[in-house]
Amino acid sequence: MLLFDYNIYKIMINKETLLCYYVVMKRLIFTDLDGTFLNHHNYAFDESFEALKKIKEAGIPLIFTTSKTKSEVELLQEKVGISEPFIVENGAAFFIPENYQGLDLSILNGYEDKKIMLFGQPYSRILNFYRLYKEEYGMLGMSDMSDAKVGELTGLAQGSVFLAKQRDFSEPFIMKDESKLQELTELAKGYELKITKGGRFYHLMGELQDKGIAVIETIELFERLYNEKVYSMALGDSENDLPMLERVDLPIVIQKHDGSYLETGLEKTEKSTYEGSKGWNEMVLKYV
Ligand SMILES: [Mg+2]
Repeated sequence: MLLFDYNIYKIMINKETLLCYYVVMKRLIFTDLDGTFLNHHNYAFDESFEALKKIKEAGIPLIFTTSKTKSEVELLQEKVGISEPFIVENGAAFFIPENYQGLDLSILNGYEDKKIMLFGQPYSRILNFYRLYKEEYGMLGMSDMSDAKVGELTGLAQGSVFLAKQRDFSEPFIMKDESKLQELTELAKGYELKITKGGRFYHLMGELQDKGIAVIETIELFERLYNEKVYSMALGDSENDLPMLERVDLPIVIQKHDGSYLETGLEKTEKSTYEGSKGWNEMVLKYV
C-alpha cells in the first residue's frame, strides 16, 4: 500500500522477486533553538510559520534540542503553539508529553506532567567543580551572574532570565582569559565533566551528556514506539550541535548571524542560504 501523506520514501528492493517498492518512513526533526529556530539577535521565529504548519500537518515530532532549560522550552512551546517532545541543557534529558500521539509511554519514568529519559549529572555536582576552580580560571557562571548581567549577555528580557537560571544539569559560563580553556577542559575530564561551546556561553556538564547521545536514544525510543525505522533530520548552527548532526540521516547547517557556517566535516551536510528562522523555514520546506 502506498501512502502519499509523506514525501520521503525509502526504495526497497526485494531480491527474490526483484520487485521495487516504496516504504513510507516516519520522520523525526531535531532542531537547535538559538541561531537556528530562533534568530540570534531577537529570538524571533516568525519566519518559520510556513514550515511549522507543514510539520504539524504531517504529524512529525518536532524535537527542540537545546542548551535551554525545561522551563524555557515549555514557555517557548506555548508561544509557538505546540506540545512536542524536547531535549534540554545540551542532551541532559529528553521529555515527552503524556499521551503524545496516543503512544504507549509506559516504558518511561514520569516527571511532573511528562515522561523523561535522563542522561545528565545533577546540578550540584556541576556547581562543585565550578566553585572549586572559578577563581583560578577566571570563569563567571550563570549562577553567579545578576539577572541584569544574564540579560545583557543573552539579550533576554528579565522575565525570561528567571527561566534561564532554573537549571537542572549544566552551568553556562564565560571566561576572562580563553587561553586557559584547554587546561580547564583537561581538568574537567578528571571529574567526569566536560565543556562545550554554544552560541554565547561555554557549558560545563556531565561527560556523557551531549546532544548526540540524547538524539541516538530518542531515535531508538521512537523506533521502538512506532515499531519501525525512522528517518531523522537535524538543524543546528554551532559547535555544540555537531554531535546531534552526526547522528541523523540528514544534517542541516543554518547560516550564522555573521554569514559563516559551522564546518561539520560530514559529506552529506546541507546548508541554508539564510540565517536564523528564515534559513530554518527554507530548509524544512525543502526537505519535509
Ligand atoms: Mg545555536
